[in-house]
Amino acid sequence: MKKVVFDEERCKGCELCTTVCPKNIIVMDTKRINSQGFHPATVKDEDQEKCIACANCAKRCPDLVISVYRPE
Ligand code: SF4
Ligand code: SF4
Repeated sequence: MKKVVFDEERCKGCELCTTVCPKNIIVMDTKRINSQGFHPATVKDEDQEKCIACANCAKRCPDLVISVYRPE
């Protein structure tokens, strides 16, 4: 299961979330463009396991794009 989920259509591409991840796994997806015209932030599937669920990214995002799930 993914730990970090992005509501990509809400992302404004500000890149703030990429600056606060201690694992440096958040990137802008330059291959995709959302309906607002921005490259959305994402964590690649292969990097999901590196996430420590600290929620820094979710707290930093001004547009409530990011949800972080902690494994039980
Ligand atoms: S929850 Fe923490 S480790 Fe996971 S992507 Fe967000 S900032 Fe990075
Ligand atoms: S902080 Fe939010 S709006 Fe800004 S790039 Fe990250 S997910 Fe997108």
